[in-house]
Amino acid sequence: MTLLKIEDLGVYFNARGRIVKANNGVDLEIEENEILGLIGETGCGKTILGRAIIGLLSENVEIKGKIIYRGENLLTLSEDKMRQIRGKEIGMMLQNPSISLNPVLTVGEQIAEVYRYHEGIGKEEARKKAADMFKLVGIDPKRMDEYPHQFSGGMKQRVMIAIGLALNPRILIADEPTTGLDSSMKKKIVDLTSELVRSRNMSMLLITHDLEVAKRMCDRIAVMYAGELFEIASADKILSKPKHPYTQDLLDSLPRRGLKPIPGASPSLTSLPAGCRFHPRCRYKRDECSEKHPEMIETEGKNHVRCFLYKNDENKG
Ligand code: SF4
Repeated sequence: MTLLKIEDLGVYFNARGRIVKANNGVDLEIEENEILGLIGETGCGKTILGRAIIGLLSENVEIKGKIIYRGENLLTLSEDKMRQIRGKEIGMMLQNPSISLNPVLTVGEQIAEVYRYHEGIGKEEARKKAADMFKLVGIDPKRMDEYPHQFSGGMKQRVMIAIGLALNPRILIADEPTTGLDSSMKKKIVDLTSELVRSRNMSMLLITHDLEVAKRMCDRIAVMYAGELFEIASADKILSKPKHPYTQDLLDSLPRRGLKPIPGASPSLTSLPAGCRFHPRCRYKRDECSEKHPEMIETEGKNHVRCFLYKNDENKG
């Protein structure tokens, strides 16, 4: 069953007189008990999408479309209502714990504060709950009175998981949860997050540029490029038989697949190419690709692709 449905989402900024089209025509659903990966290169609009869901975009942003959660369009809710949803219904692990954690509060206080703010409970009770969260993410509660700078990168990431899960939300949005971690710590954080999300029957939107992480965690994967979704499919399908030329190139750029760089660079979100946004870099481009904009089409079941190489009801499987 669908838990959260994004319909035709557009997010536009005005940056010194130029319109930044950060998200365009995004349609995406997060199902119950699902870990959905949102992958793409840095700057493609993934983080903006995560922040749009929880209403954490700056005020000079124009948003169109709908984000439906439990029958309500989150984009029409007041800030007061969104504050109740943030953390409680939709949890967030923000990017980069070194910046997201408050350096002048102890890590224990930062988790306890979540309970005090949302549940209005006293200091002692909040501290007990914070200690339980410490245990859950594998940190000795004796370390609750330490400050973020006393924690390693992996430990700080565990604190972020604890904050994201503290109120037992239905959905967790995790933005690049493994950036800056070495490969063994990355694996531990990925496994811990997946285990906690799955054991609590939660859903998760994992925002990452790291395909290996997405492969390890996700049920389905959505691929974003220049503010648009290019392909949505089960993780198995996308990783074994990617349809979109960009997805194929992304996979070929992995070290274990030959580390082939994708030629050219992503377009600026202020001057997007006409037609297919990937056409200047695509090895399969043909005349129509630079003239017409491809629509997202269904290829099989809930899999989708945006490319003229595929037509509705053809090339399924
Ligand atoms: Fe390449 Fe054309 Fe498909 Fe775009 S629509 S990915 S340019 S083949």
